[in-house]
Amino acid sequence: MTRKAHRGPGITPRELEAEIARLRSDLYFTRRAIIDLAPAKTQDLLNSYFQKCKTRADVAAWTRDLVKSLIALAEARPAKEMGDYAGTMDRALCPVCGGSADNVFDVRGFALPIDLQRHLEGSDSSRECEVMKAARGLAGEYVTDLEGGTPGKNAP
Ligand SMILES: [Zn+2]
Repeated sequence: MTRKAHRGPGITPRELEAEIARLRSDLYFTRRAIIDLAPAKTQDLLNSYFQKCKTRADVAAWTRDLVKSLIALAEARPAKEMGDYAGTMDRALCPVCGGSADNVFDVRGFALPIDLQRHLEGSDSSRECEVMKAARGLAGEYVTDLEGGTPGKNAP
């Protein structure tokens, strides 16, 4: 059990606010740590929300551009070289997390470009990129702070 796990319904609004602030801070530093673990050549792109995102609407456009740039950085390899003996599409490991599509045949990487794109966009729910998720989360928090809003209240 964690500390104060038994405090029950007696928690005051002030304590709750302090706890939320602490958790938001922890989440921020956890997301930053994930970005810092991504390959050096992708860091500037992942951190570019500072320059590119001023409003919530900017985050969607920024994400689309980021996905395109990351796909361009991916190291394409012939299907056979990646263990996909039946495949005809080039494949690449995810350029930010190093991940591969889930499969039972030891095929490495994602088919280019569509499978890698789905992984980076998080539209493939079975194997969403954790690094991109962290980057999108940071961008979302950043514009929320700029807009002076409360996270969650204006969330899509
Ligand atoms: Zn990934």
